Amino acid sequence: AADLPHVSESDPTAKALGYVEDASTTKDPKHKAGANCSNCQFYSGGPTGFGPCQLFPGKAVSAKGWCVSHAAKA
Ligand code: SF4
Repeated sequence: AADLPHVSESDPTAKALGYVEDASTTKDPKHKAGANCSNCQFYSGGPTGFGPCQLFPGKAVSAKGWCVSHAAKA
């Protein structure tokens, strides 16, 4: 997974979902404090770096990133 291309914030899907590589930079009111890709159920990477997200097939998102589809891991 480490060699998957990283999702760009300018990618159309990323823009549609409000994806940011650093959750602390989002101004989206839907963002809840502490929420990021590493604690999202769609993320299957490690706690740091980048890893796969089910919403971005074939690409990697940042563990500390975020998007509006964030759903806390069960
Ligand atoms: Fe990150 Fe979850 Fe959004 Fe994927 S769905 S980009 S893991 S917050």
